[in-house]
Amino acid sequence: MNGLRELIKGSVVLPGDPGWDAARRAWHLLVDQQPIAVVEAAGTDDIVATVRYADEHGLAVMAQPTGHGASPAVNGTILLRTGALTEIELDLDAGIVRVGAGVRWRDLNDALTGTGLTSLPGSNGDTTVVGYTLGGGVGWFGRKYGQAAQRVRSVRLVTSDGVIADVNQESAPELFWALRGGGGDFGIVVSMELELMPAMELQGGRMMWPFEQARDVLRAFAEITTYAPDELSLWAWVLHFPDVPFVPDPVRGKSFVAVDGTFLGTPEDADKLLAPLRAIADPVSDQVAPIPLNLVGKIAEEPEDPTPGLLKTVLLSSFDDAAIDTLLAAAAPESPLFVFEVRHLDGAFARPDESLGAAGVIEEPYLLLFGGIVADPALAPVIGGAIEAVQAKMAPWITGRVLPNFSTDEPNTELYPAAVHQRLVAIKQAVDPAGTIRSNHPVS
Ligand SMILES: Cc1cc2nc3c(=O)[nH]c(=O)nc-3n(C[C@H](O)[C@H](O)[C@H](O)COP(=O)(O)OP(=O)(O)OC[C@H]3O[C@@H](n4cnc5c(N)ncnc54)[C@H](O)[C@@H]3O)c2cc1C
Repeated sequence: MNGLRELIKGSVVLPGDPGWDAARRAWHLLVDQQPIAVVEAAGTDDIVATVRYADEHGLAVMAQPTGHGASPAVNGTILLRTGALTEIELDLDAGIVRVGAGVRWRDLNDALTGTGLTSLPGSNGDTTVVGYTLGGGVGWFGRKYGQAAQRVRSVRLVTSDGVIADVNQESAPELFWALRGGGGDFGIVVSMELELMPAMELQGGRMMWPFEQARDVLRAFAEITTYAPDELSLWAWVLHFPDVPFVPDPVRGKSFVAVDGTFLGTPEDADKLLAPLRAIADPVSDQVAPIPLNLVGKIAEEPEDPTPGLLKTVLLSSFDDAAIDTLLAAAAPESPLFVFEVRHLDGAFARPDESLGAAGVIEEPYLLLFGGIVADPALAPVIGGAIEAVQAKMAPWITGRVLPNFSTDEPNTELYPAAVHQRLVAIKQAVDPAGTIRSNHPVS
């Protein structure tokens, strides 16, 4: 890596340097990342310098602000941290925001709180807006407004030969299409301009019952999703909290069923829609109430610290009574898996729209995520085996497509329909023939 340090205003950490293990670590702790260098960019100039250096030396660069989507594709690359690019430029009159590549959802949600406008955040405040949006983005208000990628107006990026370019529908329509759901393979994004949507009134929170109520709760959830307006998003969970000290006392070692929800509308209308769930006896808690936007990233109570999670996410063709019974048999408290989540999609996710880039329509009405925590490496085969068993049992409802943001080690052919994949490969060939930019899920 001769000469790289001299080019960078931020930091460059190389194998063997003090702090190497911390520098190369991802949020996703099960990926033991082995890059050839880690560059912590101080700003856009450092991104340009890193990409030019890689281009000149026949190397590859991967942007990784947080490592929530880490994969072994990082091995052998220069890992580029973009966390310092935290600018948020709000133009409320125009209804747009420009976010830097290091902005996390919690920062953008904070900035928009009280404005009556929203972007399209996911379950987790710690992921970056840019990383999430490049992969599509299936979040809270998507049933009303679609995937986050659909609301991108323009992308400022550093091309594979180290030039800053503004990519939008007018300047480069093919590349712009690829950047809206095709992932991080086409350049290092410096910032994105996003359209904002109305969110004048917002209800949200978690309702939770003992596991014994799971069948009734999942049936009520499934029933509501057959008529829910697009303003309502519901995600159902079976949660088995391990009996370990870091889990808080009231839930430690116990199993629950929960439904998380957001509603863009009045408390009265939310109450009417949630009435069938509230009719189920003995809730442990019911936190659904008017909330500010900056609490949406906390509804799902996901882990904030780096986590050794082994997860699988699939799409379901339906969530009927037989699917519920099958899932509950697989998700019994003795399962080594900790989490089972069913997200209701449909609405704008399923509607063809000219704003759809490579993310495309999601025809499946439900997403199912399940997995466990590999607290000890010896548990990996146990949890991996349990994941395969759930997949086999739910096979009649699994369609085979995996959304890029939720993919782990699936081949690209499962992430995109064949025509979309071929178009992404052609665009990659055109904009980065040498493979200088590498994403966590390379398109070719
Ligand atoms: C706990 C958890 C909850 C999640 N919830 C949701 C959810 O609700 N909805 C959803 O859709 N997804 C969700 N995801 C998936 C998440 O959106 C993806 O993992 C996403 O890639 C994370 O982006 P990141 O930048 O934070 O992660 P990183 O791992 O840092 O980046 C992931 C990839 O994004 C690309 N990338 C990031 N920044 C740039 C850049 N500046 N230029 C070019 N490429 C870049 C790179 O290819 C990189 O490898 C969740 C993931 C986790 C772990």
